[in-house]
Amino acid sequence: MTTTMSSIPAVIKGGSFLIETRKPEEVFTPEDLTDQHRLIAQTAEEFVQREIIPRLKEIEEKKPGLLRELLKKAGELGLLATDIAQKYGGLELDKISSIIISEKMARDGAWASTIGAQAGIGILPIAFFGTEAQKQKYVPRLARGEWVGAYCLSEASSASDALHCKTKATLSPDGKHYILNGAKMWITNGGIADIYIVFARIDGEKFTAFIVERNFPGVSPGAEEHKMGIQGSSTTPLNLQDAPVPVENVLGEIGKGHQIAFNILNMGRLKLGAGCIGGCKVLIVPTLQWAKERQAFGRPIADFGMIKEKLGTMVARIYAAESMSYRSAGMIDRLLEGVDQGAPEAALQILEALQEYAVECSILKVAGTEALDYVADEAVQIFGGYGFSADYEVERTYRDQRVNRIFEGTNEINRLLIVDMLLKRSMKGELALIPAAQRVLDEVLGPTSLDEEEDGILAAETRLVEGAKRVALLVAGAAVQKYLQALSEEQEVIGGLSNVIIEVYSMESALLRAQKKLSREAGEIARLHCEAARCYIHEAADRVEMEARRVLPRVAEGDALRSCMALLRRFLKRSPVDTIELKRHLADRALELGRHPFA
Ligand SMILES: Cc1cc2nc3c(=O)[nH]c(=O)nc-3n(C[C@H](O)[C@H](O)[C@H](O)COP(=O)(O)OP(=O)(O)OC[C@H]3O[C@@H](n4cnc5c(N)ncnc54)[C@H](O)[C@@H]3O)c2cc1C
Repeated sequence: MTTTMSSIPAVIKGGSFLIETRKPEEVFTPEDLTDQHRLIAQTAEEFVQREIIPRLKEIEEKKPGLLRELLKKAGELGLLATDIAQKYGGLELDKISSIIISEKMARDGAWASTIGAQAGIGILPIAFFGTEAQKQKYVPRLARGEWVGAYCLSEASSASDALHCKTKATLSPDGKHYILNGAKMWITNGGIADIYIVFARIDGEKFTAFIVERNFPGVSPGAEEHKMGIQGSSTTPLNLQDAPVPVENVLGEIGKGHQIAFNILNMGRLKLGAGCIGGCKVLIVPTLQWAKERQAFGRPIADFGMIKEKLGTMVARIYAAESMSYRSAGMIDRLLEGVDQGAPEAALQILEALQEYAVECSILKVAGTEALDYVADEAVQIFGGYGFSADYEVERTYRDQRVNRIFEGTNEINRLLIVDMLLKRSMKGELALIPAAQRVLDEVLGPTSLDEEEDGILAAETRLVEGAKRVALLVAGAAVQKYLQALSEEQEVIGGLSNVIIEVYSMESALLRAQKKLSREAGEIARLHCEAARCYIHEAADRVEMEARRVLPRVAEGDALRSCMALLRRFLKRSPVDTIELKRHLADRALELGRHPFA
């Protein structure tokens, strides 16, 4: 089976994975990478090996000028410009290329956040929302890394609810400038930037974005924050004291700054999720090596079942997260196929594509950051006391990765968004979730298609994925029925539902990837794909069941609850699978290769 972009249907609606069944050939997988993608991966990898790894210590110690120098070198190779139109000095590459670069840059957390901020939230607001003059003036120099960009949304008293910012803009009496006053906080690249995208309220009301140059009067970055991790990156406040910003530097429409703030974050979430998966693949390498070399009780610790269990879990989680990352980027690319990126309407089309898959981007952000959280935590555990020592890199990675669950929208905010966006689409009639949920509730009266057992490789897992989708619809339907508009006050229910939805997307992405591999070849590698998918899906089914059991008694009672619980059992009916054996095998293969086996 060969997959080109055109095998992916153009009309896959964002969030439709809950109510539709996809075929393996309809998703992009890491096995579908083209020669051009591999070349980009090689360029990015060589850059990291040549420029970043030898300078990790200097980065960590914040050697003056180093980050700017590295950004410039990355810019010369085009690593900052994948998402930018050629007309403005960009490469106009697809989103698969963007996530490949994010994965590779994840070799070091501080560097990943520096380049991530530059190539994403630093440049894209102007590239997507700027006027022609703003694009011509700023984008090429930012894309080449000659100028550094930063994005200033958060403040000391508001970040998750950034629309309530206190920074104010007032039009000067001669109408030529907006005078900005306020203080932004937590600004990545704040200390080294030339250009700041600042969000402020005009007259304390209209939330608007501005392009602020560092050398404008009254603009001054504050001192570097002392952080738990990514210490080599620059994070500062930005103080604005009667700072005059020319009116032509208003970015986008007055009062519509939220469109910039939130749309740009969709891209950030896609890339951060992918970057974290890259981080997992980097970190598993020294962990495997250590497990092989470290002896305890006269044997390498890799021989111990509890260590193998951790390694096998890492492999399965990375497999699932990677599958959904490429699937998501592939859908965005498919939607953008044929778009002339130099055309004036291109920015809008790109933003619409990202908005279409905003649910998937949020899912990827949560799943990717939490996969890395797991891998980093267990890597420290496998290193034992040495993992707690600053002499070993896992200690730093453990600290560095922690911030990923906090920025680009905390994972709590993203969990809320996933459900909120899906329900809003459903209310608007864009996604038929409520009728699907109703059909699921009706299944209590009759047989369900899932009652029939099917034989074959991955048949049980296919059934479980379908069952998990129905569980998501069951919980969503019961929750909406009970709480209607008041559901937003039931955050524990939303969180549980979100967890089920995240698992559904992960499970299905892993399944489709394994099925696709299997359809192409039947050898040992394909079997390993199937093992990773089986392992992930069966454990995820347990988690889905647990979440549903926790939430359903909150959203149904009496006979209705009993019906829901009966449906839950039917939807997730499964024969036990020996995941211990599966994980041993996945771990053994990773130990043999010294890396994630699907890299
Ligand atoms: C190293 C670093 C770099 C950063 N870089 C940038 C940058 O470049 N530009 C920028 O603008 N910002 C940046 N940030 C800020 C970051 O985006 C915010 O820290 C983040 O959005 C969380 O906001 P907060 O810190 O105000 O926490 P709060 O919003 O106060 O949240 C605290 C806790 O409450 C939870 N919470 C908040 N609201 C809700 C709710 N409605 N329901 C349930 N739980 C909720 C949160 O999930 C979190 O667990 C950076 C932060 C760090 C640490």
